[in-house]
Amino acid sequence: MAKVRFTETALRDAHQSLLATRMRTRDMIPIAEEMDNVGYFSVEAWGGATFDTCIRYLNEDPWERLRQLKSEFNKTPIQMLLRGQNLVGYKHYPDDVVTKFVEKSYENGVDIFRIFDALNDVRNMEKAIKVAKDQGAHVQGTISYTISPVHTLDDFVNLAKDLEALDCDSVAIKDMAGLITPTAAYDLVSALKEETDLLVDLHCHCTSGMTPISYYAACQAGVDILDTAISPLAWGTSQPPTESIVAALQGTEFDTGLDLNLLTHIKKYFENIKDKYHCILDPISESVDTDVLLYQIPGGMLSNLISQLKEQGAIDRYNDVLDEMPRVRKDMGYPPLVTPTSQIVGIQSVMNVLGGERYKTVSNEVKEYMKGMYGKSPAPVDPEISKEIIGDEEVITCRPADLIEPEFDKFKSEGEEKGFVKSDEDALTYALYPQIAPRFLKGETEEEKMCTHGDDDDINVEESIPTEYTVDVDGDIFEVTILPTGVVEGDDGEEVEYDPDTVFSAMQGMVIKLSVEVGDTVEIGDPICVMEAMKMENNIEAEKAGVVTEILVEPGDAVAVGEGLMVIKPE
Ligand code: MN
Repeated sequence: MAKVRFTETALRDAHQSLLATRMRTRDMIPIAEEMDNVGYFSVEAWGGATFDTCIRYLNEDPWERLRQLKSEFNKTPIQMLLRGQNLVGYKHYPDDVVTKFVEKSYENGVDIFRIFDALNDVRNMEKAIKVAKDQGAHVQGTISYTISPVHTLDDFVNLAKDLEALDCDSVAIKDMAGLITPTAAYDLVSALKEETDLLVDLHCHCTSGMTPISYYAACQAGVDILDTAISPLAWGTSQPPTESIVAALQGTEFDTGLDLNLLTHIKKYFENIKDKYHCILDPISESVDTDVLLYQIPGGMLSNLISQLKEQGAIDRYNDVLDEMPRVRKDMGYPPLVTPTSQIVGIQSVMNVLGGERYKTVSNEVKEYMKGMYGKSPAPVDPEISKEIIGDEEVITCRPADLIEPEFDKFKSEGEEKGFVKSDEDALTYALYPQIAPRFLKGETEEEKMCTHGDDDDINVEESIPTEYTVDVDGDIFEVTILPTGVVEGDDGEEVEYDPDTVFSAMQGMVIKLSVEVGDTVEIGDPICVMEAMKMENNIEAEKAGVVTEILVEPGDAVAVGEGLMVIKPE
């Protein structure tokens, strides 16, 4: 019986799940050599949310991180998580960007590509798989595991067969909410081993508390690789602890052969790291959350919303959101909840509850989803909801990326002209994150402050109906404020005088695009600007007709709730 091998997630998923993806490269490098000696199948160290966080908060070049890690890991393959056609972003990119990104990722040090799609639509994975195979990389296709009335064991096995037909080397069962039961894990791993020749990897989070049992059941079914995290960064919304699973399998036919003394030494290093990042660590993300068993919502997604609501004695809103998420998911044809569908469904649910009316405010992402632009939903979307959201607009059935024009060269030449793109890697950073990359590439991004002991901010607890919510999106925290109509607050809370015909922002976010100019006439419902909030793009529509007489913001401006956007005078 082959021994079970491990993928260590400390440098990617574990800190993404517990420390909001904030671990710095300088905290990874000192322990890399020892980790390289363990004998892991791989270290997952790149991709997922790390790319975004590097340029948004850490002032770190993600490509440089990859090169530095590569120079330390001489024996252990470096693994990345790639969101299929979404790469390390939240939308579909054109094929030329996907090709260049995968080529450059391989060139800079990625050995194993784990490639998934939130809808399990293989058309969204095939380009990345092909390019990674062409480079000579190990390619791990992925099943985004979920439970719904339309997901069956046969569907998952058929997906694995499709991935095998695309020449994948292994398949991962990606159980992002820790939903897989021991029996389900046994049955699925057994079926995959029987029906394909792929190596089988089980990747689970501990959210529900069942995961170590499911891992053992997977061993009994012949699993080849398990994903674990060194114990200080394990449990809760992260993976099971490496040392514990090693110990549990010692002396059995599944014995990993890994050295517990060496792992314990590495563990001590990460205990200090955990201490260093203590202020980011939310105790809720470390604990078991059995709600996930009832609601199938990834634990980390709403953990901050829960704590805020509890502090304010208004947990009733939490239940509303919990009830709304499965409804939104059903309306959308039961997508597995993983980036980006977890954000799309989660934020829409919050909007539906806080807005007082379902689908009154709809993000552009939900509109695109309804048009088929994210791929084929597992079940058809609700036709009535779809009509409400996109009217009679055409729904596509082709591979979504076939409709996207190439744009790598455009971003490269534009960035070079502006002077901040100096390499293909820079051009990719720009193409992936056109809003935030320029600031980073020009060297204007400042590293977010590290935790310093004893300066934890006091939390304001107000004894009133909550109007401010904290929403956790993929490890990043967003403040959402709901203001009564007509209340306007300036930056420091003082009253600001606005023209009575001013249109105010209902959300905190960044203006991406203005859809009107001064002098334009608008009707109710006409788009007036596009704002990014909580990583979703939202079309802001005119709520009254009139003429735009003044515009108070420009693209790139960060806007607070209740800040004036423009003045629209009735004719
Ligand atoms: Mn994960």
